Amino acid sequence: MRKSTELIHTGERTTAGATPSLTTPIYASSTFIFESAAEVQAYQDGRSSGYLYSRYDNPTVVAVEAKLAAVDGAERSLLFSSGQAASTHALLTLLRQGDEVVCSAAIYGGTYHLIADWLPRFGIEGRFVSLDELARPASVIGPRTRVVWFESPINPTLRCVDVAAVAVACRQAGVVSVVDNTFACPLNQPVLSMGVDLSMQSATKYLNGHSDVTAGVLSGTRALLDPVAKARRLMGATLDPQPAYALGRGLKTLALRVARHNENALHVARALESHPSLVRVYYPGLESHPDHPIARRQMTGFGGMVTIDVRGGREAAFRTFDRLQVIKRAASLGGVESICSLPVLTSHTGLDDQALARAGVSAGMIRLSIGLEDPEDLVEDLRQALAN
Ligand SMILES: *Cc1c(COP(=O)(O)O)cnc(C)c1O
Repeated sequence: MRKSTELIHTGERTTAGATPSLTTPIYASSTFIFESAAEVQAYQDGRSSGYLYSRYDNPTVVAVEAKLAAVDGAERSLLFSSGQAASTHALLTLLRQGDEVVCSAAIYGGTYHLIADWLPRFGIEGRFVSLDELARPASVIGPRTRVVWFESPINPTLRCVDVAAVAVACRQAGVVSVVDNTFACPLNQPVLSMGVDLSMQSATKYLNGHSDVTAGVLSGTRALLDPVAKARRLMGATLDPQPAYALGRGLKTLALRVARHNENALHVARALESHPSLVRVYYPGLESHPDHPIARRQMTGFGGMVTIDVRGGREAAFRTFDRLQVIKRAASLGGVESICSLPVLTSHTGLDDQALARAGVSAGMIRLSIGLEDPEDLVEDLRQALAN
């Protein structure tokens, strides 16, 4: 089956007595009934396909995990109550006192603070490396490194990292590679098939796609994820069946949505590329993007994220931002609605000019999550907002 078909049919649990339902119902039950002590014993011995308690496993959640494993090409996927919960569970399971995690400096803010501020309390060191350093991946791995964590494309410049090169260096050194694949999603960038050990995604974004669920997912081998599943029982950031149901429904149209996000974003990026009010348009699908050759090699579509740098800096960017009408001012990304944010007020807030320059971020940047509207309406909206 192709991915788009798998997304619709995989994992569905549809037998409810004599008349099967077409879709997986919401098993809104925190617990499940056993007929006998022997049944409980069989469950505890791992000889039963039944369920005990929804913090451990729930049929609706398991059905959606099967869909996610299919789309990621993974042996197993695990759902969590947020992307951050997925990251926390991965890091706290893979690492222990005295270990080091190497992380790209160009990383999601929540991941950065988790590694920089939180893990040191447990004796786990984080070391942050630049994109230039990550381009020579063998050199970033030290004697105590257990995990290398990175993203591609990165926020908000959409710079790309050679994913396979980092994965190979990690395999050779016996280090676990983890990609936060939230921006690309596996249909555009199947990181596990590129040699990456573990894929993490905020399912809040493209996977659900409708801006109405908070969830996270980890995908990889059973060997890596079975211990994480045990940790999830203890740390408890399980996803509830209701949001899991909504996510499963969203996943059925992921292939359609991603194709349209890719088309729309490329359309907007091309239409604005030579706009006189812009310093630059950042989109990995444009030949002018510094990492276009890497993106072309490892992505089958370039995603729905576009960043524009408005001439005139902060004041001009804020004015343009305020004038947008179709495109809404909101954090997050990956939904059917186009939204925009100002990196200097969101992902990169509080950074001084030097730190901003290091991150390649300018005060004139507006980050666009291109949705599923008619792309000409988005171009018109941006043109009227950019007009002097
Ligand atoms: C949103 C996001 C996260 C965190 O996910 P939540 O669902 O908000 O917890 C992690 N990484 C990236 C790249 C994100 O965009």
